[in-house]
Amino acid sequence: MNTETLDIKITKAAQSRLAQTDFSQLVFGHTFTDHMLIADYADGEWKNFEIVPYGEIGLSPAISSLHYGQAFFEGLKAYKHEDGQVSVFRPDKNAARFNKSAQRLCMPELPEDLFIQSVAALVDVERDWIPTAENHALYIRPFMFATDPFLGVVPSKTYKFMILTCPVGPYFTKPLRVKFETKFTRAAEGGFGYAKAAGNYAGAMLPTRRAVEEGFDQMIWTDAKEHLYAEEMGAANVMFFLDGVLVTPSTRDTILDGVTRDTVIAMAKDWGIPVEERRVSIAEIVEGAKNGKLTDAFGAGTAATIAPVGSLNYEGEEYPLSDPATREFSNRVFNTLNDIRYGRAEDTHGWNYIV
Ligand SMILES: *Cc1c(COP(=O)(O)O)cnc(C)c1O
Repeated sequence: MNTETLDIKITKAAQSRLAQTDFSQLVFGHTFTDHMLIADYADGEWKNFEIVPYGEIGLSPAISSLHYGQAFFEGLKAYKHEDGQVSVFRPDKNAARFNKSAQRLCMPELPEDLFIQSVAALVDVERDWIPTAENHALYIRPFMFATDPFLGVVPSKTYKFMILTCPVGPYFTKPLRVKFETKFTRAAEGGFGYAKAAGNYAGAMLPTRRAVEEGFDQMIWTDAKEHLYAEEMGAANVMFFLDGVLVTPSTRDTILDGVTRDTVIAMAKDWGIPVEERRVSIAEIVEGAKNGKLTDAFGAGTAATIAPVGSLNYEGEEYPLSDPATREFSNRVFNTLNDIRYGRAEDTHGWNYIV
C-alpha cells in the first residue's frame, strides 16, 4: 500500500453557509457543506488534490462519463461524539470497494491511504458541519468519473476524483412496505451489480417508480435468472432473522458487498447468534412470514442504516410482519451501532477512524 502523505491544497470559502442551515429540516443529500475535494488523474497518476469551496465545475459536454457511464461512487459517514471527537466509520472498507468498482469499470485505482487521507482532510475542514443529534451524521460521497473530452467507447485516460459532504438525518422514517420484484432485474451474473457504478442506479429508477406507484416504499430485487431468490433491497443489503438465524444473501456478482451488512454479521457473531450467508429463497421467507418464524427483516446500508421491513408482498399477496418496535435483533443492532459510532460503547473491532 502507498504510504505517501498527501499534500492537499486548501482554499477556504469566503463565507460559511453553516449559520443559515437548519439542521432540523435536512432532506437527505440536499444540503452540502462549504467545501469539496477534487483531484485529477492524468498521465498515469493522481495529482492536484485540492479542497475548494463547494460549487459548480466546468466540464466539456463530450466527457465520456456522460455518454458511456464510466462513473461510480462510495458512501460513508462521519459522526460527532459527545466529547467533540470526530470519527469516520470503517473508511478502509470503502477504500477497498472503491477500487473494486474502479477495476470493473476500467478506471484507475486510488491507493487506499490516499482515499482515506482525502476523506479525513475534508471531514477535518468540515467538522463544524457534523450534526450532533441522534441518528444524524455527515454523509460523505466520494466519486470518480471519466473526463476525456471526445466520443469513443474506450476507457478514458483522464478522470476526476471528488468528495462531497452533506449533513443528514434519517433516510427512512417509517417501516417499509416492500415487494419482491419478479419482473425487472437490477444485476445479473457476469455484470457489475457488485460495483457502485452510476449505471446500476439509473437502471433501478423505472422499476422503483413502478413499485412506488403500486404503493410500495421499496422492492427486494431477485435473481435475474429465475426471480426465486432475494438479492438486495433497493440500494441496501437485505437481512432476515429466520428461526433464530441471521440469514442474508451471500455476496456475488449481483450483490454489493455492504459495509453495514459486514458490520451486522460481525456483531451477530460477537453475540453468539448463528449467521448464514447463502442464497435465500423467496419461498422460505414467505413460509417464515406465514408460520411466524420470520421474526425480523430489514435493509442494511450506510444511508438507510437499519431500515425495518413492515410488510412483504409477493405476487400480490401481502405478508405483514411483527411490529418493528418489538423486534429484538434489529433494535439491538441499531442501538449498538449507534453507541459505537457516537463513541458511547467500546469500539472493540476498531471500526471508528478518528479524524
Ligand atoms: C451502497 C449500497 C449498499 C450498502 O452498502 P453500505 O456499504 O452498507 O453502505 C447495498 N446495496 C447497494 C446496491 C448499494 O448501492
